[in-house]
Parts: sequence; C-alpha cells; structure tokens
Amino acid sequence: MVISQATPYLLKGLMNEATTTGFQRQTQKRQQNPQQCINGLMTTGVSFMVVPNDTKGNCTVPQMVVLDQGLYPYTGTGNVRGTCPLMTAVHTWEKTVVQPAAARHLRSPVAKIWEMGTYSCRNIAGTNKRSEHSKGNAIDIGGFHLKNGQKVTVLKDWGKNTPEGRFLRDVYQGSCRVFNGVLSPNYNAAHRDHLHLDVGGWRTCD
Ligand SMILES: [Zn+2]
Repeated sequence: MVISQATPYLLKGLMNEATTTGFQRQTQKRQQNPQQCINGLMTTGVSFMVVPNDTKGNCTVPQMVVLDQGLYPYTGTGNVRGTCPLMTAVHTWEKTVVQPAAARHLRSPVAKIWEMGTYSCRNIAGTNKRSEHSKGNAIDIGGFHLKNGQKVTVLKDWGKNTPEGRFLRDVYQGSCRVFNGVLSPNYNAAHRDHLHLDVGGWRTCD
C-alpha cells in the first residue's frame, strides 16, 4: 500500500476544519454582507472611517475601512486599513488575544502595536499570485511596544523560552482562532520578522 506524502497535510486540513471557531464562521457572513459588518463594527467602540473604492493598480477593494483608534494605537506604516471583516477580526484579536496574553506573560501592558503593512496592491513575494494584502484582507504584525518602553518583536523574541517568547507564542496560537490565515516565522524566511494575519479563504495556521 502506498501512503501518499500528502497525508499529513490532509490530516492537518481536517484538524483545522474541526477547530474552526464561531468567529471564523461569522467572518464569511461579514464578507457577504458588508453593510451589516460596518453596523457591527460601529457597536464595538472602534473609531474608523469608511473610504470609497480603491481601484489603484487593478486591486479593487469594494469598501475600505481605515482604522483611527482601536483598543491600541498602531505604529508603523501609519495607515491601518482593510476590509470590514479584517478590521472586525483585528478588534477581536486585540481584545481576546493580545490583551490577555500580555497580562499572562508580561510585566507591562501593551501600549502600541507595530504593524508592518495592511492594504497593498501586490503579489505574494516571489510569486505571481495576488496577496491577501491586495484584497484588503491582511495585516502584518512586527511586534508590540509596552507601556514601560520595552519592545517585543517577532524578529528578536520569537521561539524563545522567555516571557516575551511565550507571549508571542500565545498571540500566535490565539490569532489562529480569530483569523483564517496565520503565517509565522515557522512558515518561511520571508515571515521571520512578522506575523501575517488574514481573513482570506485559505485556512492555515503555520
Ligand atoms: Zn502579510
């Protein structure tokens, strides 16, 4: 009997399917009904703007939500924007993943989140496939600035058996319960310095 090399991947796929959370199932509904998504986001206390179609470079995103203020301020590219389902996921992630993980592992709360990019009309690096960033579905997280001035970064702290390393591990695992696609330094060298979080159709936690 020949056992296909694809078997582990199939099992992994089945496991992911089995652990799909209610929030992830709701993401699909939010994608199908943008106005309902906006109404939902308004009830969260997140401050945001909805901007008209962005059609630059053949990347048409029907509706773009620009984050003004969530639970945390953001530092980085200075432009946190994407689809409403992405911004809804980001808000849930801040509240149910980042905040509790910081309380569990770090001596100081998170003051700012360092993002390395959200919407960008581009392909996946090294391929001719459109990235989830080009659909407004993804955000890259480089690390966290704490209230005491300390910086926790994926590049420096990932994989370490330290409070900062354990904090990042919990953020990563929690991200997989909120976002559909999560890529970490475990995935490939292109992700050695950030967590890629997206609400695209590809379910993965790598
Ligand atoms: Zn990314």
